[in-house]
Amino acid sequence: MMVPDLDVPNTLNFPTSAAWGASLETPGDVAEAKHEADKLGLPFLCLGSGSNVVLMPHLKRFVGRISNRAIQVLDTDTDWVDVNVGAGLLWQDLVEISLSEGWFGLENLALIPGTVGAAPVQNIGAYGAELGTFVVAVTIVDDGGQIHRLNAEACGFGYRDSVFKQQPNWTITDVTLRLFRHPRVNLRYEALRSHFSGQTPSPHAVAAFVTALRQDKLPDPATHPNVGSFFKNPVISPDDADRLRQLGLDLFPQGDQVKASAAQLIDRSGCKQYRVGSIACWPRQPLVFVNYGGGTATDLIEFADQVQRRVADQYAIQLEREPSVVS
Ligand SMILES: Cc1cc2nc3c(=O)[nH]c(=O)nc-3n(C[C@H](O)[C@H](O)[C@H](O)COP(=O)(O)OP(=O)(O)OC[C@H]3O[C@@H](n4cnc5c(N)ncnc54)[C@H](O)[C@@H]3O)c2cc1C
Repeated sequence: MMVPDLDVPNTLNFPTSAAWGASLETPGDVAEAKHEADKLGLPFLCLGSGSNVVLMPHLKRFVGRISNRAIQVLDTDTDWVDVNVGAGLLWQDLVEISLSEGWFGLENLALIPGTVGAAPVQNIGAYGAELGTFVVAVTIVDDGGQIHRLNAEACGFGYRDSVFKQQPNWTITDVTLRLFRHPRVNLRYEALRSHFSGQTPSPHAVAAFVTALRQDKLPDPATHPNVGSFFKNPVISPDDADRLRQLGLDLFPQGDQVKASAAQLIDRSGCKQYRVGSIACWPRQPLVFVNYGGGTATDLIEFADQVQRRVADQYAIQLEREPSVVS
């Protein structure tokens, strides 16, 4: 059902409403809502839990939220299972369900907030794993209301990136993942490797450890509203890598690229002392900006701009925002 002046939940706890909104179950519902949005002269936008967006108070948009949370096994073999998941299911629910079903692979991605439908948009990643490596196909409804099924290659997955970032008018209605039917843990991330040194932990143990690490380091949006990392770790040129290395900063080679730590650049620039209104860095992870109560999107953007300028002035590195700002 279409609703005017709809409250839009978000993990920054900014009071936000959309001109119109609706809860949508099927691709057909999405196509119909897009048609209605056109008639109202409003751009259509799909949102999930609002854990990777900065929302202005009044969105001049038709906001759709996918309600389909169904999980269906499409195909299976001795080693793998293809599972189709409705975009409305919470990501963490999928991680828990898959572990209890004996479908493995997602344990490093435990406790990432948000919905399954949003996960391909920035190719969620953590602790040495990325969603994209598990994706078989993504079903979308395009701007014109046509339904397509994109294979993993067509999704153009990269570091916190995908084709969906270039196509904000496409709406993801379900995602098919290929998961392992036998435990195959991923200990590429240094903290996991050293914790489980010499052992072959169960996927449940890896998920539990990742959960504990995240709970220790990151603020819980329920008590300290935030959208996770505010900037991506910058991919830097070889010249910049030499320069930062000489300054004693940590660098992370990945394939033929080198990344710097955005958190360390923010920390070393002295931004942990900054505050705009109620917005400030989370002391244990300065890459996360927290709304300590009554903060606004304008304050947050001003805060992020100050951090970005300071890092650029001090280290000549341009930080790129991770969440998008929606008005
Ligand atoms: C405490 C915390 C920790 C986090 N840790 C991580 C982390 O480790 N790794 C990581 O990658 N991210 C992390 N994030 C970011 C966030 O959890 C993910 O980006 C998540 O996938 C966002 O899901 P959402 O449902 O909240 O999306 P939203 O914030 O509602 O939307 C995000 C974007 O996706 C689009 N979108 C949403 N649903 C759909 C859909 N069905 N179809 C098309 N487009 C859609 C929106 O239009 C928007 O552009 C963290 C966030 C928080 C608050």
